[in-house]
Amino acid sequence: MTAEHDTELFERACRVIPGGVSSPVRAWGPVGGTPRFLRSASGAWVTDESGRRLVDLIGSWGPAILGHTHPEVVAAVREAAGRALSFGAPTAAEVDLAELICARVAPVEQVRFVSTGTEATMTAIRLARAATGRDLLVKFAGCYHGHSDSLLVAAGSGLATAGRPSSAGVPDAIAALTLVVPYNDVDALEALFAERGDQIAAVITEPAPANMGVIVPDAGFNAAIRRITAAHGALMIADEVLTGFRCSFTGEWGREQQAGESWVPDLFTFGKVVGGGMPLAALGGPRDLMELLAPVGPVYQAGTLSGNPLATAAGIATLSRVDEALMTTIDRVADSVTDSAHRALDAAGVPHRVQRVGSLFSIFFGESAGERPVRDFTDAQAQDLAAHKAFFHAVDDAGVLLPPSAFEAWFVSAAHDDQALEVIDRAMRAGAEAAAR
Ligand code: PLP
Repeated sequence: MTAEHDTELFERACRVIPGGVSSPVRAWGPVGGTPRFLRSASGAWVTDESGRRLVDLIGSWGPAILGHTHPEVVAAVREAAGRALSFGAPTAAEVDLAELICARVAPVEQVRFVSTGTEATMTAIRLARAATGRDLLVKFAGCYHGHSDSLLVAAGSGLATAGRPSSAGVPDAIAALTLVVPYNDVDALEALFAERGDQIAAVITEPAPANMGVIVPDAGFNAAIRRITAAHGALMIADEVLTGFRCSFTGEWGREQQAGESWVPDLFTFGKVVGGGMPLAALGGPRDLMELLAPVGPVYQAGTLSGNPLATAAGIATLSRVDEALMTTIDRVADSVTDSAHRALDAAGVPHRVQRVGSLFSIFFGESAGERPVRDFTDAQAQDLAAHKAFFHAVDDAGVLLPPSAFEAWFVSAAHDDQALEVIDRAMRAGAEAAAR
């Protein structure tokens, strides 16, 4: 239960901010109740405005992979802030961060920094259209790539939660340029390309979708996207805003390479971890494509705060700590949380399924999820939202902050230590009992 204080704050917020939140997924609409207003965070813990401490499994929706307010990240940001908040001119730190990304993700030769994942995917699409001279874009139902017009069609995340096919305010003429295919459906993708392949500029995909809950890509699915796009002269955009530097120390592309899958997208987008909690995202790819961007090429893209010095400082400090050892740590944390949840739900007889890619996971509730894997948006929408709602509130009461939607991943960090994991274990049992009622 949120405290009275939070309720008052929420009432004030709703008077001056639509729905009281700066981003819809922060509202507790899908689960009911008043969202917690957070005041501070450290390691695995957050403290709300009424002073209650909870173990956090939102993790700022991905960036907080080292845990909140990691001392060395905070020190890097403080040091950068002491020099300048923003220049609007090139900096050495941008070069350092770009070099770090290029060194880590081999197909990326150049990167362009932006402030949000939305800008990264929007720019990647513009680049793909310019490179191919084609207009159509293909996305998968339930994947979320930010809130630009072309991508708010059959999107996941907040739109999935609201059960809307698309956003109001997107002109039909723009939505008509985005073609939607069910996730994990190679036949549907092939059929679409057979019909309209010569008009398609790109396929954009979350290589491991995490905005309709976590969906495991079928073995060879990403490689099939690569094969089909290449055969028709279209580009493949791997949107690793969420999976980048989380599914492995490079991302989902790197994780699949290690597993022996060989596919290389034309463009990558990154965000979240790459900015270490500050507003920073990027798109990257081979030099010949990236140099279509202004000022070298004809594709315009710009940003007053792009490559901001505080954000690049946080990005460098974070990314340089994201290595194989850190991945082992967060994989173990994910093992512990998923084991706790699975054991508790099994013991309480609640049908469910844990789906996981690397350390990224979510839990689907309901008979259908209990019986077979959730493979696409249609499956994801069949989950038992009432069970999730009961689970969410009991877990919250037991001191663990979960994403307030059944369509979001749970985010763990390297700072989730034994003490935090014990609290989670108890909370999972309380949640399971509530979901069973
Ligand atoms: N792409 C993916 C895969 C995402 O998960 C998100 C955000 O959750 C975005 C793009 C948009 O990023 P941002 O919220 O920074 O605009």
